[in-house]
Amino acid sequence: MKHYSDKIVTALILDKGESIFEAFEKVAMEKELPAGFITGIGAVEDVIIGCFDKGKKSYIEKKLNGFHELLALNGNLSWKDEKPFIHLHAIMGCEDGSVVGGHLLQAKIAVTGEFFFHLFNGDLKREFVPEFGLYLIK
Ligand code: ZN
Repeated sequence: MKHYSDKIVTALILDKGESIFEAFEKVAMEKELPAGFITGIGAVEDVIIGCFDKGKKSYIEKKLNGFHELLALNGNLSWKDEKPFIHLHAIMGCEDGSVVGGHLLQAKIAVTGEFFFHLFNGDLKREFVPEFGLYLIK
């Protein structure tokens, strides 16, 4: 993992084998990043995506086999119980040119990951919403 920051943006470059969520949480804690939005591209494997089932208040999980181009990762960093809360959505390209995407639950870097945290001085915190069974931004 390599990261570079100015006052507004932190660039985070991940290497093969690194977990996106573990790396994002680590850099958010170590650098005490405020809230912000996250963008990125790269190549991933060991991916699990989800689609939220409102009735069951849980994610329907789908494991993706093999290598995928990470075409577009969008998400945000907020905080819950003094810990970073990473919410990510991803669109990924398959070998045959098709795309797949969803709420990202797990992903490891297959080659490289190039991410940018666009920060702001606000403070976003999460609060549990019983109607959905989710921690949403207040
Ligand atoms: Zn989501």
